[in-house]
Amino acid sequence: METLDKIKEHIIEWAEDYLGLDFQFRKYQLETIMFIIKSIINDDRETSIIEAPTGSGKSLLCIISAGVLLKYYNKKSYILCSDLYLWQQYVDIIESKKLNNYGYLKGSIGNYTCFMNKQDLSCARCKLEKISYTQLKDKKWRTQNFYNCVDKCIYMQQRFRAEKSPISVLTYQLWLYHMNLVNKNNKEENIQTFPVRDVIFCDECHNIPDIIQQFCSVTINTEKDINKIMSIFDYISEINLNNLNNLNSIDYNENIMKDDYIINYYNKTNNNKTNKLHYNDIFDNDKIKKYLKLLYIALYNNQENPDQLIDILILYIDILNYLNYMSDMILEQMQESLFNTKKLDKETENIVKKLNWFSTYFLNIKNYKESIINSGTEYMLMDIITDEETKNETYSFMCAKEDFLCNEYFLKHIKNKILLSATVGLHHAFDDNIGIKYTVQKMSYMSKIPSTFNYDKSPIYFIPTYKMNYANKKQDFPKIQALTIKIINANINQKGIIHTGSYENARFFYNNAPYEIRQRLYLYGNSKQKEESISNFKNSKNGILIGPTLIDGIDLPNDYCRFIIIMKIPYPNITNKIVKKKIELFPDWYNNTTSNMIIQSIGRGVRNENDYCNTYILDGCFGQLYQQTKEQYPEHIKNRLKIITA
Ligand code: SF4
Repeated sequence: METLDKIKEHIIEWAEDYLGLDFQFRKYQLETIMFIIKSIINDDRETSIIEAPTGSGKSLLCIISAGVLLKYYNKKSYILCSDLYLWQQYVDIIESKKLNNYGYLKGSIGNYTCFMNKQDLSCARCKLEKISYTQLKDKKWRTQNFYNCVDKCIYMQQRFRAEKSPISVLTYQLWLYHMNLVNKNNKEENIQTFPVRDVIFCDECHNIPDIIQQFCSVTINTEKDINKIMSIFDYISEINLNNLNNLNSIDYNENIMKDDYIINYYNKTNNNKTNKLHYNDIFDNDKIKKYLKLLYIALYNNQENPDQLIDILILYIDILNYLNYMSDMILEQMQESLFNTKKLDKETENIVKKLNWFSTYFLNIKNYKESIINSGTEYMLMDIITDEETKNETYSFMCAKEDFLCNEYFLKHIKNKILLSATVGLHHAFDDNIGIKYTVQKMSYMSKIPSTFNYDKSPIYFIPTYKMNYANKKQDFPKIQALTIKIINANINQKGIIHTGSYENARFFYNNAPYEIRQRLYLYGNSKQKEESISNFKNSKNGILIGPTLIDGIDLPNDYCRFIIIMKIPYPNITNKIVKKKIELFPDWYNNTTSNMIIQSIGRGVRNENDYCNTYILDGCFGQLYQQTKEQYPEHIKNRLKIITA
């Protein structure tokens, strides 16, 4: 048992050694780090939750705690970030303070470019040539095989550093991938890149259920996927027919052998026709294509029946299993010739990319099957999204039992967890959502850091007169629009943001706004456009950022945001199947989440001690929600709220 004085001494000493003698703890920072160290070292608490408002220095809380735990208690840790903006903040601190025991890495796909072939890392030259990380790490091998590019490769350098550092800052997605998929195949800890460590710090922890849902979900695009799969089959039958004979030796689901297995599903709603399909025909590519299409139709026809859906999905996996086996063989055979080729020809490059795509696709579908079988097939949900232009359908498969998934894929991997967020919401609702009841201690401990900002110049006006719910939206939206225009005109030289709740509302407002106001609006339609819009908005004189996804992940200090308009309360879409099921399973989740989003939305405007911002809530639905969830609103928001009439 360590005394509190000793813990305090360690923290101060660490901060002096690594952050400099002039480093000053912010108010409550030292006490919070003491709480973290004590809860792990003395109390051995499994899960501690810290509600840390903007300005409390969350990143430093994690960095200092991890450093103290390593230096004085020999505990290694991970720090997880939910977005790249936050990840970069950690990297900046680590670099500026030259913290050598810390490494950092993002997921490889979409975040790094191979400078040898100028492609995304998923198609980097070393990936296409199937060079292992062990080979790339070996200096002698690199020199002998002309792979000195590793020395200058940002991804490889970050990866090797993150791997050997006792404290590593990773994205949630990357960490989940290693804990649940990679380490499962490499059971021995000494060969795992990122093995289990003693402690994990989870920043923006309110995002955990969504992140886990995304990790466990899978989507099948009935047109694109079939085309990619078939082009691999076509390639294989062109170049490698001999190897197909070996397929008899691999495991398969004997249902595939049965005539009409899939047809039985198909016929439940299509009694008029039957097609005969035989296992012997399966390597006739036209038949496989037809077979896969039938399978997609069977999924469509059984979308409300989880038991049948899972059977069909298993059958789909069985078919893909053959392809997986074959694509592994092809890649193995190709490896040597790829390595000796100075420049890949376009056709080979395309097929290797498709094979790489397929192995991730197959892994995801298998992972989903496993998660749904573990959590209970009754929680399986399937949603269908139809592309308005092409009419292509995307089937997305989810699991409503998020608390179970959170424990299974996240909490249970590491004993001591420190979860931090500015908006945890109600403690019991948060515990329910992330599955604390499945942990050994069955409870978590929560600490709230009070805000130190002065909000005197940041009132929140609530105008309850009009509502944006289904019943009132038609007649009230134009009135809310008129109010919005009035507020914008009163802030003629200021920048601000408008939270619209949906893209549809954003477009409606934009299309109906007077010309001079439209000139100030920065509208976006997807995440790529959003990045561009934010940067243009920042460079503008009096721009207004408008959209439904400005709730978190953007920092708009000082003159970047002097007014915020909440046009619509951001309730999750009740027609969405997963939302409906979650309301059934976790009754507090709906309101709790919506209020958290409002707290986050308001938080965009006051980012430091001298900052200020006016907020206007124009959707009258806030009144009822506020009464139902008042307990979760921080005192500074309650004190700033002023009701006015339109
Ligand atoms: S190690 Fe070389 S080939 Fe591989 S990603 Fe880096 S630069 Fe590209």
